[in-house]
Amino acid sequence: MKRFATLIGLPLSHSVSPSMQQAAFDYYGIDAEYQLWEVREEGLEASLQRLRMPECMGANITIPYKSAAIPFLDEISDDSAKIGAVNTIVNRGGKLAGFNTDSPGFLRALEEDGDFDVRGKRVVVLGAGGAARAVIFAIAGRKPESITVAARNIDKARNACLVASNRGFRCDPIRCDCLRDSGVLDRCDLIVNATPVGLKAGESPLAAEYIRRPALVYDLIYRPTALLEYAAAAGARTLGGLPMLVYQGALSFSLWTGKPAPEHQMFAAARKALEQGA
Ligand code: NAP
Repeated sequence: MKRFATLIGLPLSHSVSPSMQQAAFDYYGIDAEYQLWEVREEGLEASLQRLRMPECMGANITIPYKSAAIPFLDEISDDSAKIGAVNTIVNRGGKLAGFNTDSPGFLRALEEDGDFDVRGKRVVVLGAGGAARAVIFAIAGRKPESITVAARNIDKARNACLVASNRGFRCDPIRCDCLRDSGVLDRCDLIVNATPVGLKAGESPLAAEYIRRPALVYDLIYRPTALLEYAAAAGARTLGGLPMLVYQGALSFSLWTGKPAPEHQMFAAARKALEQGA
C-alpha cells in the first residue's frame, strides 16, 4: 500500500515542503508520496477527515489553517494548545494528533545557525499570527529580558502576548506605527520578522533607518529579503528562514515515521527547489 503525507493550506504555490519531504521518504526507501492539498475553508473539515484513512501518515498545516484545524483533531500536544496553532498532524490508527514543530524549529535555528543565546536579551517580534505565536512561545521559555510584539492591530498583538503568559512571562504589545519611534528598536538585541512582508522583492516590514544595529535580525521568510539586506548594511548579523523550515519539517518527518530525519538531504532538496523557483 503506497502511503502519503500532505500539505494543507491556501494558496500552496511555490512550496518547498514537497521536495524536502519527498527527499526524506526517498532516503529511507519509504513508499510514500508527499502531496499538496490546496483547500478552501469550507472544505477543511472534509480534508482533515481524509487524513484518517490507513494509507495516510499525516499532514503539515500551513496558512491559513494552523488554528482553524484544531477543533477537528482528536488530541493536541500541550505546547500546541498553549501556542494555539498546529502545523503537523499525525494519523495514529484513525485518530488525529496535532503538534507544533514551528516553535522548536525556530529555536534550534536561532541557537545553532544564529549562534544566539536569548537569555537576558531584548527581543522584538514583528507580527502576531501563527508563526509569531510559535516564536513568542519559544523565546519566552528561554528567559529573555523583554519581548515586544509589534502588529498593525493592537488587539492581535495583545492576544499573541498571551502565549508568553502561558509560560509565565509578560510581554509588551505595540502597534507597528508606534514601534518605529518608541526607542524599543534602539535598545533591542534581536528582531524577528514573523510577517509575510518581504515575500515581494523590495518590501520590508522596517525601513533601513530603523535597524540600528541589533545583534541579530532573523527573517522567517526563506528567500533573500530587503530586511536582511538592510540589517547586513547596518552591521547586524542575519539569519533567514531556511534552517527553521528544514528543522520544523525534520520534526514532522520523525513524528510520521519514527525515524531520524535525513536533514542533510532535506536541506539539499529545499535549496534545489528554491533555486528552481519554488
Ligand atoms: P499569519 O498567521 O497569516 O500571520 C501573519 C502576520 O503578519 C499577522 O500578524 C499579520 O497581521 C501580519 N501582516 C501581514 N501583512 C502585513 C503587513 N503588510 N504589514 C504588517 N503586518 C502584516 O502567517 P504566519 O503563519 O504567521 O506566517 C508569517 C510568515 O512566516 C510567512 O512569511 C511565512 O512564510 C513565514 N513562516 C516561515 C516558516 C519557516 O519555517 N521558515 C514557518 C512558518 C511561517 P494581520 O493579522 O493584521 O493581518
